[in-house]
Amino acid sequence: MSTYPIPFNRPGLTGQELNYIADAIQRGHISGDGYYTKQCHRLLEETLSIRKALLTTSCTHALEMSAILLNIQAGDEVICPDFTFVSTINAFVLRGARPVFVDVRPDTLNLDETLLEAAITPRTKAILVVHYGGVACEMDTILEIAKRYGIPVIEDNAHGLFARYKGRYLGTMGVMATQSFHETKNFQCGEGGALLINAAEYAERAEIIREKGTNRSRFFRGQVDKYTWVDVGSSYLPSDMLAAHLYAQLENRDVIQGKRQRIWDTYNTQLAGWADQYDVQLPTVPTECEQSYHVFYMVMPSLASRQALINHLKAEGILSVFHYLPLHLSDMGVQYGGKPMDCPVTERLGDCLIRLPLFNDLTEHEQTRVIETIQQFKGWE
Ligand SMILES: *Cc1c(COP(=O)(O)O)cnc(C)c1O
Repeated sequence: MSTYPIPFNRPGLTGQELNYIADAIQRGHISGDGYYTKQCHRLLEETLSIRKALLTTSCTHALEMSAILLNIQAGDEVICPDFTFVSTINAFVLRGARPVFVDVRPDTLNLDETLLEAAITPRTKAILVVHYGGVACEMDTILEIAKRYGIPVIEDNAHGLFARYKGRYLGTMGVMATQSFHETKNFQCGEGGALLINAAEYAERAEIIREKGTNRSRFFRGQVDKYTWVDVGSSYLPSDMLAAHLYAQLENRDVIQGKRQRIWDTYNTQLAGWADQYDVQLPTVPTECEQSYHVFYMVMPSLASRQALINHLKAEGILSVFHYLPLHLSDMGVQYGGKPMDCPVTERLGDCLIRLPLFNDLTEHEQTRVIETIQQFKGWE
C-alpha cells in the first residue's frame, strides 16, 4: 500500500472479481485453461478479431514466448525503442539477441519510424514496437519497411489494449502482440499477460511452448490420443483464479476506459494553460489514433524542474513518478548493445518526463488537488 494520500496507482475493481474467483474454485479447475481462461480468450479473440489469444503469467513471459516463436538465436539483432520498459528487450536478450535501440519521436514518444531503416542489418530478426500510453506508433510506415526487408514486427501492447490506429486495434497489426495485466495497467489481475497471435503460422507452436513444450492443448481437444514432449517450452499459463479476476475487468472494459478517459481529458484541458505558460509539453495524440488513456505524462523543461515538481507534489501527499531511463545507457544496454548509440530524445525524456496519478477510481476531488498543486508549483529556478 502506498503511504501517499493520493497514490500513483490504486488497482481498480469492478465488483465481480471475488464472485468469479469463488466460481472458478467451485468449478474445480483452478489450474490453467479453465472456464475463465477460455472466456478471456474468447472475449479477446472476438473483440479484436484475431486468430488466437493466450493468457500468460505476464507480458514479460508473452514476450519470451514471442522470442522463442521467432527462433531468436545468439548473434541475432532485435530492434526496439530506447524508451521502453526493460522487459520489451530482455526477453530477446535472454535468447542471445543483441539489442539495437532506436530513438523515439519527440511528439508521441514512440519508435521514430524515420530512423528505423538505418538500424536494419542482415542480422535483424525482429522489430519490436511499443505503443506508448496506448497511442499507436506510425504503423503504416513501420509495417511497410518491415515487409520490404521481410522482418517480423512484434507489438509490445502492454499499454494499449482496445486502442486503435486508423480504426485497427493495436495488437492486431504485427505477427503477434503482447499484453500486460499487471496491477498498474488498465485491466489487471495483479500479475498477468497475454500473447495475441495474428500470423497463423505461429498459432499451434505457441500453445505448445506455453504448455511446457507438450501438445497437451491438442490432447484436451481430442486431436491427438496422448500428449508428449514435442518442442522446447515452459509454463506460461496462469491459474484460472487469475483469469476469473481478469474476466471481471475485461467484461467491464467500456466502464473502465470511460473512467480513464474522463480523468485523462480533465488533466489535459485543465493543465493546458499552465503548461503553455511554463513551456511544459503535454501528450500528443495524432488524429488517426484512438488511445487507451493508460498514462498522463508531462515533459518538463529540465531535470531540475522535473525533480522539483515531484518533490512539491510529494510534500502535498501526492505520488508522481518518472520513467523510462534510456536503455542504451543502462548497464545491460551498454554490455549487450555493442555499439554506442545516439538517442537524444530518450535521454531528455529520462530526465524530464513525469507521470501523474491516473487510475480508474481517482476521485474528482483527488484530481482537483493534483491539478491545483501543480498550478501552485514555483520551483522553476
Ligand atoms: C508493464 C510493461 C511490461 C511488462 O509487463 P508485465 O506484465 O509486468 O511483465 C512490458 N512492456 C511494457 C511497455 C510495459 O509497460
